[in-house]
This record gives sequence, structure tokens and C-alpha cells, in this order.
Amino acid sequence: MAYTLEIDTQNARETQKVGREFGAFLRGREVIALLGDLGGGKTTFVQGLARALGVKEKIISPTFILAREYQGEKFTFVHLDLYRLEGNPENWVNQLGFRDLWQKEKTVVAIEWADKIKSLLPEETIYVEFTNIGENKRRIIVR
Ligand code: ADP
Ligand code: MG
Repeated sequence: MAYTLEIDTQNARETQKVGREFGAFLRGREVIALLGDLGGGKTTFVQGLARALGVKEKIISPTFILAREYQGEKFTFVHLDLYRLEGNPENWVNQLGFRDLWQKEKTVVAIEWADKIKSLLPEETIYVEFTNIGENKRRIIVR
């Protein structure tokens, strides 16, 4: 049950590629929690992931607006960044309608800084952790 996958990348392109390969396995209704430090490669990974879902637009970090939705060819893709989220996470989850979000068919949700709402995430959430292990090296662990 506790299946993990660990990959080290040497540059941003490789991290995008890992995101793309990971994205190719998704079928919709997944929640992906992206954890790890600033500059760890979460947004970079999401760029590849979005590409795999058929999103043509450029992915920009939704840090100031919390959420961005893209219509991909395969799925709707919702990208959240909770970096600036403060206060009671329960309120946010309710106010922003997160719970509906991750029950939608054909929708993939990726959440940066998801540890802020960890206890509220669905049980089936896929966790992807990013660690800086060198100037351009990143370790990506999928659980
Ligand atoms: P986060 O969203 O986790 O804060 P970003 O993806 O926005 O991180 O930023 C990662 C930064 O690190 C980018 O500037 C990217 O070019 C750089 N970088 C260097 N090496 C890597 C790597 N192996 N994987 C991902 N990003 C890398
Ligand atoms: Mg980011």
C-alpha cells in the first residue's frame, strides 16, 4: 500500500519531464499535493503535468490568487498555491469550495503548499515531495 517512487533530477527540464510522465497516468478526479521548500520545483513539475493533461497555456504560479483553472484537452486542470494562505484552513476549504473541486469528474487538482490543509485533503491524495539536494538537483518523492 505504501508505494513510493523516488527520482532525482539535474535541472528544471528534467523535473518538467517527470511531471509530464506522472501526468500521463492520471485519469481525472485526482488530487495531487505538492510539498517542499520554495524553489523545490513544484511549479516546474506542474508545468509538465499540465502539458500531459493537454493544457496549452503557460502555467504561471497562482501565488497571489490561490487558484487558476485551465481547460486541457484531456482534463480540466486546477492549480492551487496556498503559500499565502493564513488563518483557519477549514474556513478556506469551505469558502473556496475545495471539497466540490476534488469530486469533479475529469478534473485534476494540484496543490502547492498543500501541507497547510493536509488534514482536510481526501484520503486518496497523491503526495509529491520536493527537496533541494544541490544547486540544480532536486529529489522528487511520490507517495
Ligand atoms: P516551487 O514552486 O517549489 O517554489 P519552482 O518550480 O517555482 O519551485 O522553482 C524552481 C526553481 O529552481 C526554478 O527557478 C528552476 O529553474 C530551478 N531549478 C534548478 N534545478 C531544478 C530542478 N532540478 N528541478 C526543478 N527546478 C530546478
Ligand atoms: Mg511554486
